[in-house]
Amino acid sequence: MDFRLSSEQEALRESVRDFAREVVAPVIADHYETHTFPYEVIRQMGKMGLFGLPFAEEHGGMGGDYFALCLALEELARVDSSVAITLEAAVSLGAMPIYRFGTDEQKARWLPKLLSGEALAGFGLTEPGFGSDAGGTQTRAVLDEATNEWVINGSKAFITNSGTDITTLVTVTAVTGTRPDGGKELSTIIVPSGTPGFTVAPGYSKVGWNASDTHELTFDDCRVPAANLLGERGRGFAQFLRILDEGRIAIAALAVGLAQGCVDESIRYAKERHAFGQPIGNYQAIQFKIADMEMKAHTARLAYYDAAARMLAGEPFKRQAAIAKLHASTVAVDNAREATQIHGGYGFMNEYPVARFWRDSKILEIGEGTSEVQRMIIARDLGM
Ligand SMILES: Cc1cc2nc3c(=O)[nH]c(=O)nc-3n(C[C@H](O)[C@H](O)[C@H](O)COP(=O)(O)OP(=O)(O)OC[C@H]3O[C@@H](n4cnc5c(N)ncnc54)[C@H](O)[C@@H]3O)c2cc1C
Repeated sequence: MDFRLSSEQEALRESVRDFAREVVAPVIADHYETHTFPYEVIRQMGKMGLFGLPFAEEHGGMGGDYFALCLALEELARVDSSVAITLEAAVSLGAMPIYRFGTDEQKARWLPKLLSGEALAGFGLTEPGFGSDAGGTQTRAVLDEATNEWVINGSKAFITNSGTDITTLVTVTAVTGTRPDGGKELSTIIVPSGTPGFTVAPGYSKVGWNASDTHELTFDDCRVPAANLLGERGRGFAQFLRILDEGRIAIAALAVGLAQGCVDESIRYAKERHAFGQPIGNYQAIQFKIADMEMKAHTARLAYYDAAARMLAGEPFKRQAAIAKLHASTVAVDNAREATQIHGGYGFMNEYPVARFWRDSKILEIGEGTSEVQRMIIARDLGM
């Protein structure tokens, strides 16, 4: 059991840390305030190879692994979560389904531009009426045998990276029939951006992640070739469970980054801010808050390292991924609250990074499976 990073992993972490501090930090507050997507930052992340981190070189990837992606996400989120979730969703929800389940033709067509960051993809599972209960999917896709096309009708809610200028496709889960046991047959279908009948609504007005891209999508007799089916027909449920299990480790890493960013900003502020004749960092009440924040970030980091190690070893990791996501998101919210408290009134001002951390932390307890859903997964895995 060795939790130390290899020199290669350390080098990746350092280069992303420098990038986050030197390139992301100076511009992100403006994007956040104006709710604009940081195209130039994303372009540079593409040039660094971040979108290709966990993919094989033969598809245009960097030949790294999922843990490398997690390290990059942690360092980005230490400075900003909008940029981090854009990368997380692009890789683990956008490109990964095609990488894991796509045909050779689908991989050859889509992966090079997704893995270079030149293009983004979204993953449409959630619907306006169904999120946690994803089996309730209402979107339907009917195969028109005369034209050999899927005809898709329905809508998807809160889909990340689905409406940027560089979004090239969205994979959507849809009911494609009835299983022999009478249940819904769910399949996943690739819908290229700009397909007639596929409408992207204007961006939501969100509490946080304001420099990331999120839309509701509508499919109205939207036709795509039968060959756009991703993997086998009827495997949609199993596919998204796999994608979400992995994605939880990535979200945990992102949450650890936010939690650590709260520690960084709190130490900086506590040394500068004076009250009653001395820096507030001299008071033990403040030191204890920061010590607790560091303890939480550290233990959450170990939880995601463990889940990632199990996943990469090919061992079962569902429970550990759920534990990591549940713990890290709780810790992120706790640390954001305490960091804001340490900043006093300035913590309530958007010009300070902790205001962004606070607004960005809550969604971590909701997206890619709520905290209640993580507890359901853990309890089920314990045989309950
Ligand atoms: C900014 C943002 C980006 C997102 N990006 C994507 C994306 O790219 N792709 C995508 O598919 N989705 C995306 N989502 C959707 C997200 O994954 C869902 O919002 C989340 O899974 C919760 O679903 P819901 O909102 O329908 O809540 P619901 O499922 O309606 O849950 C409401 C509440 O009920 C609780 N609950 C539900 N069932 C139970 C139960 N059995 N027992 C106890 N409590 C329960 C939940 O935990 C929650 O507290 C995004 C959401 C946001 C806000």
